[in-house]
Amino acid sequence: MERFAIVGFGCAGCHALKAIRGAGCAAAVDVYSDTGLPPYNPMLTTYYVKGTLPYEGMFPFGTMETLLGELDFTWYDQCAVSQIDAAARTVRLSDGRERAYDKILLSSGARAFVPPVGDLPQSRIFAMRNVEDAVRLKEALASGGIRRMLVVGASMVGIKLVELLLAQGVEVVFSDLAEHIFPTAAFEETSRRIEGRLRERGVELRFGVKTTHAAQRDGRAEVCFSDGAAVTVDAVAMCIGTRAAVGYVSPEEILIDRGIVVDEHMRTSAVGIFAAGDCCQGRDLSTGGTRIIGLWASAVLQGETAGKNMAGLDASYPGNILHNITHFMGMDFVSFGDKSLPGERRVFQDRDGRYIEATVADGRVNCVNLLDLYKNSGAVKDHMLRGLYPHDAPPDPQERAVLLKSGLPRELIDLLGGRGQ
Ligand SMILES: Cc1cc2nc3c(=O)[nH]c(=O)nc-3n(C[C@H](O)[C@H](O)[C@H](O)COP(=O)(O)OP(=O)(O)OC[C@H]3O[C@@H](n4cnc5c(N)ncnc54)[C@H](O)[C@@H]3O)c2cc1C
Repeated sequence: MERFAIVGFGCAGCHALKAIRGAGCAAAVDVYSDTGLPPYNPMLTTYYVKGTLPYEGMFPFGTMETLLGELDFTWYDQCAVSQIDAAARTVRLSDGRERAYDKILLSSGARAFVPPVGDLPQSRIFAMRNVEDAVRLKEALASGGIRRMLVVGASMVGIKLVELLLAQGVEVVFSDLAEHIFPTAAFEETSRRIEGRLRERGVELRFGVKTTHAAQRDGRAEVCFSDGAAVTVDAVAMCIGTRAAVGYVSPEEILIDRGIVVDEHMRTSAVGIFAAGDCCQGRDLSTGGTRIIGLWASAVLQGETAGKNMAGLDASYPGNILHNITHFMGMDFVSFGDKSLPGERRVFQDRDGRYIEATVADGRVNCVNLLDLYKNSGAVKDHMLRGLYPHDAPPDPQERAVLLKSGLPRELIDLLGGRGQ
């Protein structure tokens, strides 16, 4: 009987296993996980800390008992894979054991990048990626020891933290090296509008500055910035990004860039080795190259594609574009596409707080920002994908009608669908 292995049991790993069994494949499957937990959804962690979701709510796939019963696999819990030998087709585990496989999926996700913050002890520094991070922050907030917090990283994760801290009555200083919020996704004017609203809600913004040093002072933390200013807080949250968790992979055996490079079948450069989710660099429709697009929907599709191919089917991952759909503090920021791609910058709507700006090139949209226009954002993305890949997905007249009805300007809809002038 064939033996499969899955490294990391998150969204991508779990979807791959479901696809393997869904394809009727009876291979023995060993699942290696460095946690003792069922697969969780990292994006639900902030809702748990905020108190709007119970602990169990972070585990959308159910308990391990249910999964083991449904999917028939061997679970190696709290057992990190420390090395892969692609030639010998073996994995080495953190406890020293070695196990063989015929095909393997690398779905180890990403880890929060948390560098030291000056001389502050770890007890004052928080991150937000996994269940342990969420439990730790929730307990610290419940203890009443955090009255003022510095959130470093004007990212989608950073803003969700800011939101939950404000809801708990914690004062927030929000800082980033970049000049504006959401630097990789938002155009400057979009950022300015969001920043104005944050200031109105009492958030102290310190953008365009670096934290230079930090130390404990009188039982609190003093953090200094490159502009000479300093803030006194009780704790610091680092939300400055993630790194693909690929330390166990040898770049001499498997092609790695920022993540593990895969083709449309989610195959890596090594025979019998697949990768999916935040640890891999899959097809990017905006550029035609590969890139890590660390989103839940990508991890679902990539995991499913890898699982089907491991089971012997022929499945392809269609690719994705960068996108962010973030709801926070009563507002919605939506961005589709790559902000760094060239094009003419145009404002398509600016009324009642709603704002649409896009980069347009060659009769199509390369990147669009929508502020407070959440409704139909799925149809906007779909239409944009059809514009980028008319052969894979021809324009859909019904979708166009939906967008017209929603009040989106006709010219923008044409450009999104690749039919602009
Ligand atoms: C706060 C937050 C908010 C987010 N919001 C959104 C959002 O709004 N929309 C969206 O689309 N996406 C969002 N995301 C991203 C989304 O959660 C991820 O893209 C998705 O969870 C990736 O799934 P994955 O299976 O690749 O990785 P993970 O969920 O990280 O799972 C990987 C698993 O592998 C384990 N592992 C790592 N190394 C090893 C090893 N060597 N051996 C064994 N096990 C290992 C890890 O511990 C983990 O359990 C958010 C993420 C965060 C943190």
